[in-house]
Amino acid sequence: KPHLVLKGVHRHYGEGEKLVRVLEAADLTVMSGELVAIVAPSGAGKSTLLHLCGLLESPQAGEIDILGVSTSRLGDRARTQLRRSAVGYVYQFHHLLPEFSALENVSMPQLIAGKSPAEAEKRSMELLDLLGIAPRASHRPAELSGGEQQRVAIARAAANHPRVILADEPTGNLDPATSDLVFEALAALIKNEGAAALIATHNHDLARRADRIVTLRDGLIVDHQLALA
Ligand code: ADP
Ligand code: ADP
Repeated sequence: KPHLVLKGVHRHYGEGEKLVRVLEAADLTVMSGELVAIVAPSGAGKSTLLHLCGLLESPQAGEIDILGVSTSRLGDRARTQLRRSAVGYVYQFHHLLPEFSALENVSMPQLIAGKSPAEAEKRSMELLDLLGIAPRASHRPAELSGGEQQRVAIARAAANHPRVILADEPTGNLDPATSDLVFEALAALIKNEGAAALIATHNHDLARRADRIVTLRDGLIVDHQLALA
């Protein structure tokens, strides 16, 4: 099933001399359980693409469908609701709450969504376990290594069963060995949850482990193999 579909997406910023055309006719389909890596130079539009997919920004033309819902027709409230229920976001920096434990950080979005504390804790432990950090459940972010912090952030992003997971340079702040570990954990999680994932990364070695690599060229999303040809 396609969880995320972009059709003819156009996004530019500014006008006149300051006009920047980022996406001109971007097409992309990401299926359930599929991990797509976006590898492109800085400034190519990776963050813009992720913000569009996460419904933080709107395209000026084209269509973005999430779980078969055509998002252009949604009002602000419905967009926010779809973003909260369907999309999980992982950032380069973890943005965990420093005063709370790993378990509490992962439970927080579930409690906000109305789950009982017991249900939230069960789900949080399941995710921490899947990501190999269950023994760190009661540690606060400052008591965790960089790779552990990032795996907690991944668990938090996945807490409410998002069908689409977006990650912007999720290993950008980590050393190569830790990047490997975190990327593997993220990939395993995506397969386990059957989510569709779009991951922006500079790291070609990691990107190779994705199901598919795409790049951004001339405002289009192109298959990486084609782009090299
Ligand atoms: P990447 O994530 O690949 O580094 P971005 O999506 O952040 O690229 O940016 C793509 C281009 O769009 C850049 O040239 C950037 O300057 C421009 N851009 C991004 N956001 C804005 C904005 N809010 N206003 C004006 N220009 C922007
Ligand atoms: P790395 O070698 O990956 O950089 P660290 O040396 O920072 O990791 O941490 C090694 C282990 O020690 C980690 O599992 C982390 O949870 C734990 N740890 C790190 N800092 C603290 C701390 N201030 N309090 C408790 N445990 C910590």
